[in-house]
Parts: sequence; structure tokens; C-alpha cells
Amino acid sequence: MYGAIRADLAARMEALEKDGLFKGERIIASRQGSEIEVLAADGSRRKALNFCANNYLGLAGSEELVAAASRAMDKWGYGLSSVRFICGTQSPHVQLEEELSRFLGVEEAILFSSCFDANAGVFEALLDAECAVLTDALNHASIIDGLRLCKAARHIYAHSDMADLEAKLKESAGAKYRLIATDGVFSMDGEIADLRSVCDLAEKYDALVLVDDSHATGFLGATGRGSIEHRGVDGRVDLITTTFGKALGGASGGCVAGRKELVRWLKQKARPYLFSNTVPPAVVGGTLEALRIAARSTVLRDALAANARRFRTGMEKAGFDLKPGEHPIVPVMLKDEKLAVAMAEALLRKGIYVIAFSFPVVPRGAARIRVQLSASHSQEMIDRCVAAFAEAGRELGALG
Ligand code: PLP
Repeated sequence: MYGAIRADLAARMEALEKDGLFKGERIIASRQGSEIEVLAADGSRRKALNFCANNYLGLAGSEELVAAASRAMDKWGYGLSSVRFICGTQSPHVQLEEELSRFLGVEEAILFSSCFDANAGVFEALLDAECAVLTDALNHASIIDGLRLCKAARHIYAHSDMADLEAKLKESAGAKYRLIATDGVFSMDGEIADLRSVCDLAEKYDALVLVDDSHATGFLGATGRGSIEHRGVDGRVDLITTTFGKALGGASGGCVAGRKELVRWLKQKARPYLFSNTVPPAVVGGTLEALRIAARSTVLRDALAANARRFRTGMEKAGFDLKPGEHPIVPVMLKDEKLAVAMAEALLRKGIYVIAFSFPVVPRGAARIRVQLSASHSQEMIDRCVAAFAEAGRELGALG
């Protein structure tokens, strides 16, 4: 029996490699940060500047977070060996839920092991077959999977197309409850969702709104509350899902935050919360520290925004085609799949670590290198990155 699936998987794996869809893993031989060491094929270590982590505030490898996580582990232990409702809730778990609620400006929050789990649990617990969800075509995989687990009717609206969202709202009239689900920031383009229009439509058609703010929490908006603050729709979004695995320290964990009746129901019914182990104390302690750092001052947020502007200006001057925007995700559009891969390889040889994205992750002919800025990049690092892009671009004929 095993022989059949083994042969089938070998053939499929070969097809992945042939189509350029095989995902290898580059081994990092250092702490995460803006300056890392990567392992080369011959086992040697090579220094590189990292421009592809979601380490927006630069906290992932920071001493402050390591110290906070260590203190939490010393005091509260390594693990809980329990889900939350049996014997897996310590005071820091409650404290983190309270501080998250305050930071995000919502009533209550519930922790999950990841934002993937938050999205896997939220829809099924709140909506049944008589309900409807309106979901952006480019929403994250975890929203797509969460909706698969939920019996509500699914209406996929064309990406960021408010006319189509309105049409789908009209189509779904009669559903018991309707919920619009959107990413706050679409990660392939660094595009910030038009939450004002989403909320206007939600109010017009009496729908709830859920925003996955994984690529915004901690750094977008004047106080870092995310895309909701950035778009000025505070108080109009019912549920936020987000991760601690990006700006807030980058370890793991996530939450659903929002209206208290919804969050309290999730504590009773969300399956990944009820049937999966509690978030470990070290992660809780590290995330609490990250939140406090994000809340304390605008220094990191300002550095991040300035870095994104500096990179954009430099790359535009060098002649590259960028997706316009203001988010620290900066897609460098190369269009051609092979060129994008060759550019990423050339850049690594020059000490710049970036990743090429091509079909099916992005549309055919829209291959790109997605550069991600961090508050921990220095100006000199950004200038080196731009210079390396320009050099590689000239060598490979990527510049007009
Ligand atoms: N939602 C979005 C928009 C994401 O980008 C990600 C991570 O890639 C997730 C959810 C999942 O987050 P986590 O890594 O906490 O599971």
C-alpha cells in the first residue's frame, strides 16, 4: 500500500521542482535580525542583511524580549500541559488579554496558539448554516481554511472591489447574520484595505466586520493599533484577529480581540482554544514586553516608516518598478518569474537576503521580490540593499 503513495508523492514532488514551485528552506545560522548568517550549500556561513522577515519593529532577536521571555519562563515554568479551561490559565495569560484589549482599543481578547488558529476557530464558533460570510478573494489562507470549517454560506468578493462586496451583500440578504472578513493589509502587495468603505457597507447592510491585522498590529497607525487606526475606523470593527509572530516579537501566538459578547462566546466554543494547549509562559512574557515597547513610544514605528520611505525613494531613483504604497512591505516588480529568482540569487551573493514570489502565490506575469523593512535596519543597510539591487538589476538587465 505504502509503495503507491510513495511513488505518487515522488512524481508530484518532481513536478513541483520542474515547475519551480518547490519550497526549499534556507538555514539561518544566527539569531533572527537585520544582520544574519545563512548556511551555504557547502556548510560555510555567509553574512547577509535580512530583508524578508516580518520583523517590523526589530524585536525578534532583541535582548529586551529575550530577557522578558526568560524572566517569564523562570517564574511560570516551561509549559502548562493543559488547555486553558482545565489548568492552563496563569495570571500572565489574563494580563496579556487585558493589555492586548487596551492596546487595540477593544473590549476583550482571547489568546490562541497562532493567528492561524484564531482564524480557524472564530467563524465556526459564531456562525452557522443560516449565516453568510463575505470574504475578500485575496484573504490569507487561514481565513480561507477557517471558512471551510464553518457552515455559513461563503460569498467571495473580487479583491478590494467594493461594488462587488455590495453586490454580494445584496445577494446574501436574508442570512441570519452576515460578516465581512478582510485582511487589514494584503501581504503580497503591502496594500492597506479600504476599511472605511468596508465599514460603510457593513453599516448600510447590517453586517459584522472582522479584520485580520497580522501585518499591521504594533506599527501601523499613530499609536500602532494597526490598519483600523490607520484608516480611522476605530470602534466600527467588531473583531480583530492578529498574530504575535510578526511585529510583536515574532515568536508565535495570536488572538481574537473585539466585542466582549463575541469574545466570551469564543472562550466557550472556539475549538482551537478549547482543544489545543495554552500559549507557553515565555511567549506570553515576551509578547507582553513587545506590547509595552510598542505602546511606550513612537521611536520604532517612526524608524520603520522612515526606513520604508528611504528604501522606496532609493529604489525608484535606481529605476525599479515598485507597487505604490506606504507599508514596510515593498514589492519590487520584475514580472518575469525566472528574472525574479535570478535577482534573489544574485542579491544573496551580494549579501542581501530577499525572496522572489511568483505564480501561483502572485498572478502569472507579476513575479516580484517582496522586500520587508524593519525598524532595526540602519540607513547604511538600506543604502547597501538599494546599491545591491541596482548592481544586480544592471547585471541581469532588469532595469530599462
Ligand atoms: N493572517 C495573516 C494575514 C498572516 O500573514 C499570517 C501569517 O502568515 C497569519 C494570519 C498566521 O499567523 P500565525 O503565524 O500566527 O499563525
